[in-house]
Amino acid sequence: MDKNCIFCKIASKEISKEFLYESDLVMAFHDINPEAPVHILILPKVHISNINEVQDMGIFGDLFTAAKEIAEKEGVSEKGYRVVINTGKDGGQLVDHLHIHLIGGKKLGSKVSG
Ligand code: 5GP
Ligand code: ZN
Repeated sequence: MDKNCIFCKIASKEISKEFLYESDLVMAFHDINPEAPVHILILPKVHISNINEVQDMGIFGDLFTAAKEIAEKEGVSEKGYRVVINTGKDGGQLVDHLHIHLIGGKKLGSKVSG
C-alpha cells in the first residue's frame, strides 16, 4: 500500500466505496468522472504504479476476467465496450496505480487516441 495513493485508500477500504467486483487480487468501482454511461475502473488491490512496474503478468488474467464479468453484468457485452490502460505522462495516466478503464453504454468513436 502506498499511503499517498487514492486507489490504495479505496482498496484498503480507508475510503468507503461501492465495489462492483471483488476477488482476492482485484476490485472494481465506478469512475468518479464518467465519460460514458458505463465507466468502471478495475485494478489490482496491491499498489503497482503502471504496466512498467508489473512483475507477474498473471495479474492481467485476473484484471481481464473481471472486465469480462463486469461487462456482462453491466449489459454491454453484446453491443461492445472498450478497455483502456493509460500508462505514464504521454499515455494520459493521472492516477499512478495500475487500472483498466471499462467504457461502454454508448457508441464510441473508432479512433483509439483522442
Ligand atoms: P487515468 O487518467 O489515470 O487513466 O485515470 C484516472 C481515473 O480515475 C480518471 O478517469 C478519474 O476520473 C478517476 N478518479 C480519480 N480520482 C478518483 C477517485 O477518488 N474515485 C474514483 N472513483 N475515481 C477517481
Ligand atoms: Zn495505489
